Amino acid sequence: MDATGRRLAGVDILCQDGVIRQIGDSLSPPPGAEVHDCRGLVAFPGLINTHTHLFQTLLKGLGDDRVLIDWLRTCTLPAALQLTEEHCYWGAVLGCLEAAACGTTTVVDFMYVHPRPHLSDAILRGYADVGLRAVFGRGMVDQGKDIGVPDGLIEDLDGALSDMERLLRLHPNAPGAMTRIWVSPCIVTMATDAALLGCRELADRHGAFVSLHLSETRFEVEYAHRRFGRSETAHLADLGVLSPNFQAVHCVHCSPQDVSILAQHGVRVAYNPVSNMYLASGIPPLAGWRKAGLRIGLGSDGAASNNTQDMIQAMKFGALLPKVAAEDATAMTAPQALAMATIEAARSLGLEEELGSLEAGKRADIFLADLLTPNATPAFDAVSALVYAADARNVALTVVDGAVVYEHGRYPRWPDAQAALRAADASARDLARRAGLT
Ligand SMILES: [Zn+2]
Repeated sequence: MDATGRRLAGVDILCQDGVIRQIGDSLSPPPGAEVHDCRGLVAFPGLINTHTHLFQTLLKGLGDDRVLIDWLRTCTLPAALQLTEEHCYWGAVLGCLEAAACGTTTVVDFMYVHPRPHLSDAILRGYADVGLRAVFGRGMVDQGKDIGVPDGLIEDLDGALSDMERLLRLHPNAPGAMTRIWVSPCIVTMATDAALLGCRELADRHGAFVSLHLSETRFEVEYAHRRFGRSETAHLADLGVLSPNFQAVHCVHCSPQDVSILAQHGVRVAYNPVSNMYLASGIPPLAGWRKAGLRIGLGSDGAASNNTQDMIQAMKFGALLPKVAAEDATAMTAPQALAMATIEAARSLGLEEELGSLEAGKRADIFLADLLTPNATPAFDAVSALVYAADARNVALTVVDGAVVYEHGRYPRWPDAQAALRAADASARDLARRAGLT
């Protein structure tokens, strides 16, 4: 499937040096090439998860069925305080193993808590060990005592900015990079204006994005009016931090005026339907976003607010939520949902030149689905079958940068995946115990 959604049948895909070199009939593999017989399978562009928090994979199920403020104060924040390098490594590995098994080839991992140094480095090792492409949002929190953020999660601004710069230098935003760094002040309620401006300046100097949770809940909207006398979006625009290199996450409660400000500045949006339902944050105004021309990418959000990272499931919910909100079954179609997890997701990250579709010259990020299964047969239309009928069980093969990272239940880089899962499970239990959650 190319960037226009054009579909081809019965073709070969030739990948070399991490890039799709050729797509066509009966291609001859070069000597020594690894050949996969994919007859009967359907190739899709690798799914792009535009927003998650992989450390939360260790918290799966511990924050269920709570109102958001309780979820924060009794689950995610106490756990965040206890995070060690080992927890962060296993959280990243577990999240990436799940992503690979769900056809996801790129994750945007927004890591907003740094209670001790070097957590970022452990997470980056986790991505590399599984072989997933990642954007690491080096987040930060530099205020928030008034809303219950523990002291141990509040970073010194200069220290946080210098660690961000260290990571940006280690992982420059180069074409085809497996790891990129973004600068991610967590949320307006937990960031000073100096932090927002410092992050913007740093990101601009390194050609990176800034990402930020924006108007996810009514609380944030009310908070902004109390603190700034205007909306968060209006405040960010006045500060000068909005730009096409800015990803706003959630935007559930952005007003039509806010949406128009975001569109004027070319801001990209991460849409997280499952998390918005799980935390009862509200229904994002998709129709307004699309009318305003915002670039929208789909995300799972962290596993503490969407216990699975399955982007196939996220596509289904992502299509269904706008339908029920508008009481209009045409509000979102299956091809539109798939686009939001592929080419539109790539556009929302500024990576459409290299990701998001299967075309010669793009990075070889691909997944193959087996649709001859009880849940998907008869697959009259492969896109409909993928979005509305399939799930992770249909993923047969996942390829990132030309390398197979998942194949029929196995991980070539993790011959003993069960041992990895046991280690992640032990790490999760240790974190929960230290945080007093179990
Ligand atoms: Zn988030």
